[in-house]
Amino acid sequence: MSEPSQAPTRFDPSTDRDYRMLIDGEWVAAQSGETFRCVDPYEDREWGRVPSAQAGDVDRAVCAARRAFDTDGWPQTPPGQRAALLRRLGDLIEQNADELARIQIQENGKLLGEMSRGTFVLGAHARYVAGLVENMHGETVDTGFPNMSTSTVREPLGVVAAVTPWNTPLGLLAWKLFPALGAGCTLVIKPSEVTPTSTLRLAELCVQAGFPAGVVNVVTGYGQTAGAALVAHPGADKIAFTGSTQGGRAMLKAAADRIGRVTLELGGKSPNIVFADADVDNAVHGAMAGIFAATGQTCMGGSRLLVEDGIYDEFTRRLAAAAESLRLGDPLDPATEVGPLACSAQLRKVLEYIDIGKSEGARLLAGGVRDEAQATRRGFFVRPTVFADVANSSRLAQEEVFGPVVAVIRFKGEEDALALANDVDFGLAAAVWTRDSARAQRMVRRLRAGTVWVNTYRMVHHTMPFGGFKQSGLGRELGSHALDEYTETKSIWVDLGNRQTFGRR
Ligand code: NAD
Repeated sequence: MSEPSQAPTRFDPSTDRDYRMLIDGEWVAAQSGETFRCVDPYEDREWGRVPSAQAGDVDRAVCAARRAFDTDGWPQTPPGQRAALLRRLGDLIEQNADELARIQIQENGKLLGEMSRGTFVLGAHARYVAGLVENMHGETVDTGFPNMSTSTVREPLGVVAAVTPWNTPLGLLAWKLFPALGAGCTLVIKPSEVTPTSTLRLAELCVQAGFPAGVVNVVTGYGQTAGAALVAHPGADKIAFTGSTQGGRAMLKAAADRIGRVTLELGGKSPNIVFADADVDNAVHGAMAGIFAATGQTCMGGSRLLVEDGIYDEFTRRLAAAAESLRLGDPLDPATEVGPLACSAQLRKVLEYIDIGKSEGARLLAGGVRDEAQATRRGFFVRPTVFADVANSSRLAQEEVFGPVVAVIRFKGEEDALALANDVDFGLAAAVWTRDSARAQRMVRRLRAGTVWVNTYRMVHHTMPFGGFKQSGLGRELGSHALDEYTETKSIWVDLGNRQTFGRR
C-alpha cells in the first residue's frame, strides 16, 4: 500500500479520536488498554482508535446484559413502554441520519446516496417494530379437555449476542436490535472490526432514547477474540449473526453445547436470470444494479448472471460496455457510481478471485484489474468486472466473491435455467427477467431462494421477511414475524376443578 495521506480529511476531523465501548451504561476502554484503528477505504487513511475487547471485557458486557434481563426488570416493562422507546430511537436515527451515514461511509466507502437513504429509513423500521410490539400476544386454545384453561404467552428469550458485518453496519444491526429490544431481550453487540464506530454512535442514541443501563452493550474488537468470546459465552441465550457462511458455521458450533438459539444471515451466489423475451434494456440495468451496486459487497448480489442463448452475445456486449463506462470515485461525490471495496483484505480477495476466473478459462469482457486512475489511486478500487462463458461448476460461479465481479453463464430454456440456478450451495436470492408472467410464476415457485424478484433486483423493505435457503442462513429477519426470533412461546395449563387421580379413585 502507499504512504499515509497528508491531505486534510474529507470527514469531520473530530472522528479521529479515542473511542469507548458501552458496557452497563458506561463508556469504557478495553481492560488491556489495547486499541485498533479504522481505515477510510477511499484514501487508505487510518483514523480513530477503537478498544480491542478481549474475553474479560466481553464477560463484563454479558454479565451486565444478564443482570438487566434477569433482575433489573427489562423483560417485565410494559410492551407499550418498550414501543415508545423504540419510536424515540427511530426519531433520533432520522434526526441524525446524515451523520450516521457519513460515519459508515468513512468506515466502508459505500455511496452517499445509498447510505443516506438506507439509514434514514431505519426510523420507519423502528416504528414498524414498535407497532408489532404493541400487537404481540399469545393465544387462548381450546384443547377439548373439560374444566381446563389453556393458553400461550410469548416471552423474551434472554440475552442476545448480535454479531454484525461491515457492508451495511447499521441496517443489519437494526434488523436484530429493534426486534430484540421490542421483545424484551437485552443485547451485547459485536460490530465488525472494519465498522465499529457507527455502531458506537447508534448505541449513544439508544442511551439518549432512554434504554436502561445494561440493556444495550457494545464490545468492539476482532472476530477471533471479542467475537469468539461473545458467542461462546454461556450467558448468551441467542446468537444473531450476519456474515460469511464460514462465520455461520462457527456460530452453530459455538451454540451447540448449550443448545443456544441461532439466527444466521449468510452469504449468497444469487442467480439473476434473463430470458430472451425480457425487456433487454431494463435487464441490463437490472444486472448492473444486481452486481455493481454497493461495489458488489452485498449478500444478495446477482453474481451469477444466467442469460438465454438467443440474446447472450448482444447482452454480454452491452453489459461489458456499460460496466466499462461506470464512474468510480469518492463515495461522498453524488456523481460517483461505484465506490471502493471496504478494506484491503477485501481488495486482495477480489483480485484473487479475478485470477481464479482467468485460470479457469472464463472470458474476461470488462475490468479485471485494480483501478489506477488519479481519482482512485490510493483507495481499494477494482474496475467493474464481467466474465463471460463461465462454467457453473467453476469456483467463480460457486463461491462468493463479494465484489464487483459477475460470472455470466449461458442457458437454453426454462428447465436449463432452473437447473443451473439451483445448482449451488447458497439460496439467498434470485431474480427472473421476462415478459411472460406465467413463466415468471413457474420460476418463482421452483427457485430455491429466500427472496425472488421478477423484473427488478435488490428490493428490500422492513415489512418483507428476509433470509436464506440452504447455506445462506437460518431463520428470517424483518417482516411481521420478526419478533418470533426473539421470543419463546410458553404453554399454560390451568385445571379448573378436575381431581388428580394417578390411575386410582
Ligand atoms: P465475517 O463472517 O467475516 O464477519 C462477520 C462478523 O463476525 C464480524 O463482526 C466478525 O468480526 C465476526 N466474526 C468473524 N469470525 C468470528 C468468530 N469465529 N467468532 C465470532 N465472531 C466472528 O463477514 P464480513 O466479511 O464482515 O461480511 C461479509 C459477509 O457477510 C459476506 O459473506 C456476506 O454475504 C455476508 N452478509 C450476509 C447478509 C445477509 O443478510 N444474508 C447481509 C450482509 C452480509
